[in-house]
Amino acid sequence: MMDQMDDLARIDPAIYAVIERERQRQLDKLEMIASENFVSNAVLQAQGSILTHKYAEGYPGRRFYGGCEYVDTAETLALSRVKELFGAAYANVQPHSGTQANMAVYFSVLKYGDTILGMDLAHGGHLSHGASVNFSGRLFKAVTYGVYRQTEEVNFDAVREAALKHRPKMIIAGASAYPRTLDFSRFADIAREVEAYLMVDIAHISGLIAVGLHPSPVPVADFITSTTHKTLRGPRGGLILAQAKYGKALDSQIFPGIQGGPLMHIIAAKAVSFQEALAPSFKRYQAQIVANARTLAQEFLQHGYRLVAGGTDTHLILVDVSAMGLTGRQAEEALDRAGITVNKNSIPFDQRPPTITSGIRVGTPALTTRGMKEKEMVIIADFMHQALTAPSDTDLLAKLQAQVKDFCSHYPLFAEEWSAA
Ligand SMILES: *Cc1c(COP(=O)(O)O)cnc(C)c1O
Repeated sequence: MMDQMDDLARIDPAIYAVIERERQRQLDKLEMIASENFVSNAVLQAQGSILTHKYAEGYPGRRFYGGCEYVDTAETLALSRVKELFGAAYANVQPHSGTQANMAVYFSVLKYGDTILGMDLAHGGHLSHGASVNFSGRLFKAVTYGVYRQTEEVNFDAVREAALKHRPKMIIAGASAYPRTLDFSRFADIAREVEAYLMVDIAHISGLIAVGLHPSPVPVADFITSTTHKTLRGPRGGLILAQAKYGKALDSQIFPGIQGGPLMHIIAAKAVSFQEALAPSFKRYQAQIVANARTLAQEFLQHGYRLVAGGTDTHLILVDVSAMGLTGRQAEEALDRAGITVNKNSIPFDQRPPTITSGIRVGTPALTTRGMKEKEMVIIADFMHQALTAPSDTDLLAKLQAQVKDFCSHYPLFAEEWSAA
């Protein structure tokens, strides 16, 4: 357990030091990477448990190893809780990651060389939706859609045009850097028109969807995939939801298709996080994430920044820093020196390459877990603005870092108010 690491400290001081330094970094800095979060001690304890010892290839009640009676209960609980959480008929909680979940869905109904239609990486999509450097772009013929230049919201005319032109076998909705609500029913209409499967990847917004703060794709999509470690605030991993008729094919694509033994300690930790997500406090937590992102958006607008799509409906904002005479990389570096962790991010129609970019992606899930609310967001936006207006003022950035550290010292990594009890 994370609070009792005396054996680790004695046996492997080098790794112990890594963990302690990383813990201090997480405590002292403002974690604003939109895909990160802090899990509860309960999740951490399940994940750090002796369940890591167990081989359990197969599924509950039909394993290829003996001694699975207790881990079967963990997986069964995870499955029933996640189905209740999202109102889904079928679930699989074994994917080791979001990308593995996507791979299993593709392999369940696609053949090599089939066409898939996903959101352009440069417009907010994910690598595993058909990027040329990813397996999805190497094994399948990937075509893309993007956002309108004017509104920077999903260009459904382009989705439909590409669907009619390329006749994809699967349409993929979902994004890693998109601040607005996604209209899954419009994707579903287009998928139906061209007889394509619809997969919705809710990796970033699954927490919002679980509590009804973002429309759910479950009624309209064939397949839904997610990570468990972003807004959902569970251990690092993935999951698949689907209509019941796809269950058999999906199960066999995860195992034996692309994975061996499931990570039973992680599956137990997923079960814990799903129980937390079913508690009323989780809805308050998600609502606070969105309120915090809106407050940050207002503050940035007031400081004169341009936001992609004009603002946010979700847990993240994309700030165009080019008008401030900065690149995304420079902004990321300046903020880092001020103790604020974000990632540079391409903005739609970015003139700069992905290693430089014109924007930063800023998210509120982790800060909200620490118990920060609107008034803290106003202070944080001010810290950020100070750093971004003096990106080469070493003294100022150092002074800001000390202020940020002092500010952070008032907030535990996981605030009591969100505990499921
Ligand atoms: C984060 C993310 C994933 C991938 O998750 P990994 O667990 O890192 O493989 C997949 N899809 C989207 C949209 C994501 O944002």
